[in-house]
Amino acid sequence: MDRRRFAIGAAAFGVGALASGLPRTSAAKAAKAKPAAARSGEPDVLVLGAGISGLQAAWLLEDQGLKVSVIEARDRVGGRIMTLLDQPGYPEMGFNSMGEGYGRGLDIANRAGVEMQEVGARYRIGPPGLLYMGDKALTREEWAKFPGNPFPDAFKSVMPGELVPMLVAQKTRLTDWNSWHDPVNAKLDISLHAFLREQGLSDQAIHLAYDIAPYYGMNAYDVSALLSEYNDGFVKAQIAAGPKSFAVKGGNLLMPMALAKQMKGDLLLGREIVAITQAGGKVTVHCADGATFSAPKVICSLPFSALRNVAIDPGLSGIQAQAVAQLGYQPISMVFVTAETPFWEQDGLAPAMWTDGTLGNVIPQRYGEDPQQITGFIAQARGNLANYWDRAGAEAVKAMVVARIEALRPAAKGKLTAHSYFSWSQEKFNLGDFSYIAPGQVAWMDEMAKPAGNLFFCGEHTATGARGLEGALESSERVALEVLGM
Ligand SMILES: Cc1cc2nc3c(=O)[nH]c(=O)nc-3n(C[C@H](O)[C@H](O)[C@H](O)COP(=O)(O)OP(=O)(O)OC[C@H]3O[C@@H](n4cnc5c(N)ncnc54)[C@H](O)[C@@H]3O)c2cc1C
Repeated sequence: MDRRRFAIGAAAFGVGALASGLPRTSAAKAAKAKPAAARSGEPDVLVLGAGISGLQAAWLLEDQGLKVSVIEARDRVGGRIMTLLDQPGYPEMGFNSMGEGYGRGLDIANRAGVEMQEVGARYRIGPPGLLYMGDKALTREEWAKFPGNPFPDAFKSVMPGELVPMLVAQKTRLTDWNSWHDPVNAKLDISLHAFLREQGLSDQAIHLAYDIAPYYGMNAYDVSALLSEYNDGFVKAQIAAGPKSFAVKGGNLLMPMALAKQMKGDLLLGREIVAITQAGGKVTVHCADGATFSAPKVICSLPFSALRNVAIDPGLSGIQAQAVAQLGYQPISMVFVTAETPFWEQDGLAPAMWTDGTLGNVIPQRYGEDPQQITGFIAQARGNLANYWDRAGAEAVKAMVVARIEALRPAAKGKLTAHSYFSWSQEKFNLGDFSYIAPGQVAWMDEMAKPAGNLFFCGEHTATGARGLEGALESSERVALEVLGM
C-alpha cells in the first residue's frame, strides 16, 4: 500500500484502525528501525508545536520507541483546538466536530479517553437562517423574488451562503478529488472566481455569494478552484461515511489536554521558538527566553504563518521558502453572545442570520445537554470583514454586534450580552485560521512539506488527502514515516 492509499484507507477504517499507532505494514518495518540516538538527556526527536498534529507525531514516534520532547509557545496545548472552558456551553473558537469518516480523529479521541457526543443535531436542528440584505429580512421565497437578487434564474431561490458550495459540488471537474494536487490537473488551477464565472455567475453574484463571507481567502480571486473542489470531495466522503458528527463532551480542548498527559517525554509550554539552526548533524531550536534544545531530528508543526517569523539557518530554499513566506491563512473573528430570553421565540423568526453587513453571520450554538437548547450565538466575520473587525477593536465590535442584532431583531433589545472576542488573525502563534491555496499555488503542495535536512514538517497545511483535524493527523503519519526513514 503506498502512502496515499494508506492515508485514504485510514480515514475509511474508522475507530481502532490505527490503534497500534502506525499502519500494520509500516509498524512491522518500524519495529526494525533503530532510534536515531541512544537514550540520554537529549531526545531523538524534538516536536515543535503542541497542536493536534504535533502531539500525534510525538505519540507515533514514542510508540516506536523514540525519545521525544515537545516545545510549545503557548501555555496550553491544542493550538487551533480552542474551547472557552469558562463560558456557558463551552463554545468552540476553533475545531468544532468530526464526521463519521474521521478514522484518525475518532481513533485519537478514543485513545485520549475523552467522552465523545453526537452533535449532528447542532447543524440539523432549527429553521434555515434568515437572510438580511441591509435591514431587510428575507425568507427563501422572498429572496427568490427580491429585485436585488443577482443570481441566474435557475438559482434565484438559493441563499447566498449556499450557492458556491452547491455549484462546486455539482460542477467539480475532478473525478477523483484526491488528485486535486496531481500535476496532470495543473491546468485546472484557476481562481474560484474564474470557475464561478464559467458557471454563469456575474461579478456581482460572486461578490454576494462568496466575497462577503469567503470560506477560503479574501475573495474568490484569492483562492484556487482546486482547493474548493478538494474540500468538496472531502465533505462528500464524510457525508458518504454517515450522518453523525462528534465532538468532545465538555469541550474539544479536553482531547489535546488528555493526549498531553499521555506523553512519556517532556512537554515544554510557554517556550516561543524564534530560531532553528542545523549544523553537524544536529538541529538546535532557540527560544525567545534564551533556552536552546537540540536533537538529531526536529519536526516542525508550526503553521507557515507563524514559521515565517522564525529564523531558519541554513535557510529554506525554492518553493518551500516561498510557501513559508506566502501561504495564505484565513482571517476569522468571532464574538460570543448570550441571550437572557429566547428572542427568536418571541419574534417567531429563525435564530440564525446571514447578513451582507458588518454583523457578519450569526450562528446559534447548541452546546448544552439538550441539543435543542440554544446556549448562545457566535457572530462570525471572515476575510475582509474579519480584518475590519480586528482594526475596530474587540470592545467596539462587541457593542456593534449587540446593537446590530437588536436593530434587526427588536425582541432581542436589552437581552444580549457579548462575552468574548476571538480573532485567529490576532493569535500570535496562528495568525489566521486554516491555510488556503491561491491560484497557481497548488503545485507547491508536493514540495513545501519535504524535509529540509533533518528538519521535518507536519500540520494541517501540509495535508493533501484530508481536511481540518483529519488532515492534521494525516500529516503526523507522513512525518512519522519520514523521521523513521520509511
Ligand atoms: C474556527 C475553526 C474551526 C474549525 N473547525 C473544524 C472542524 O469542525 N473540523 C475539522 O476537522 N477541523 C476544524 N478546524 C481545523 C482544525 O482545528 C485544525 O486543522 C487543526 O487543529 C490544526 O492542527 P495543527 O496541529 O496542524 O496546527 P495548530 O493547532 O495550529 O498547532 C500548531 C502549534 O504550534 C504552536 N506554535 C506556533 N508558533 C510557535 C512558535 N514560534 N514556537 C512554539 N510553538 C509555536 C501553536 O501555538 C500551536 O499550538 C477548525 C479550525 C478553526 C480555527
